[in-house]
Amino acid sequence: MRDIIELDDALSNKIAAGEVVERPSSVVKELVENALDANSSIIEIDIEEAGLGKIRVIDNGKGIREDDVLSAFKRHATSKIKNENDLFRIRTLGFRGEALPSIASVSHLELITARDGEDGTKLVMQGGNIITQEKAVGRRGTDITISNLFFNTPARLKYLRSLHTEIGHISDIMNRLALSHPNVSFRLRHNDRSLLHTNGNGDVLQVLSAIYGINIAKKMIPIHASSLDFTINGYISLPEITRASRNYLSTMVNGRFIKNYSLVRAIMEGYHTLLPIGRYPIALLSIVMDPLLVDVNVHPAKLEVRLSKDKELNELIALEVKKVFKQRELIPQGAAPV
Ligand code: ADP
Ligand code: MG
Repeated sequence: MRDIIELDDALSNKIAAGEVVERPSSVVKELVENALDANSSIIEIDIEEAGLGKIRVIDNGKGIREDDVLSAFKRHATSKIKNENDLFRIRTLGFRGEALPSIASVSHLELITARDGEDGTKLVMQGGNIITQEKAVGRRGTDITISNLFFNTPARLKYLRSLHTEIGHISDIMNRLALSHPNVSFRLRHNDRSLLHTNGNGDVLQVLSAIYGINIAKKMIPIHASSLDFTINGYISLPEITRASRNYLSTMVNGRFIKNYSLVRAIMEGYHTLLPIGRYPIALLSIVMDPLLVDVNVHPAKLEVRLSKDKELNELIALEVKKVFKQRELIPQGAAPV
């Protein structure tokens, strides 16, 4: 007998799940990103027990064709890229075709989805196995419920922190998704308590207000900058509004939320000496650039990206932030350039 065997789908999906589905908030992120990629304008998220009880995401997006439903649960099956060329011009949040099979392999899943004017489908799975698939009537969109998350991966379950910590992660992810999609209405509920509600009217300030409260929103200053390669829009807080963590500095590239310490540093640099040591402002920067300058294919969760021309971008940001405070005469005109 040979030594090397090819793993079956169920097992390889479960292994992939280790990377894609770290905790309940990863499931929320992947499902809501799918809803956004399906062009939904309203997305409702219902969570029970910090996601360990239930995660339900309902959208009014384009739905999945009846004959595509099973493909959606195959690994590396996606409707979002077709060839290598597309990989370098990614405009959707997903593209790896890994989320649904990974999530399905470590949970109980129920999906109801329908396209406009077509029959809908209801699919029930457990641990990646199909239990039932049948026709269903439903309105256009997708309604997916995950329960018993990590029921078959006890080590992962053990690694999770308190429910309090896990709901905090879910809240963070949802805040980011709402900030990067002000034209979508989000409603997040945990054990029937509302955690976030945005109206989807396209106004980022309204989203900032829904997240941080009206009093903070009033102290956010709009910022705009552009160069041949970059367009930047966003809000930065007056220096009097600070936080002890840099989690309140949110950066997005082409609508995708990213973590990039050099962008954070650039914003901080712009504040010059206006911030107390160890304190961070609240800021939201949305950067638009040619997708060719962004490599999102660095990390499975796609949180980290590589940016070309990052030095130029950072300079532009630092300069613009500084300009805002100079105009408000918070930084003296003669202060050293960044
Ligand atoms: P990816 O998002 O990387 O393509 P997923 O495993 O997350 O991979 O989803 C697989 C496919 O299922 C998607 O490419 C999309 O065609 C379809 N899909 C998933 N969720 C939805 C949804 N909420 N609405 C419409 N289609 C969806
Ligand atoms: Mg996806």
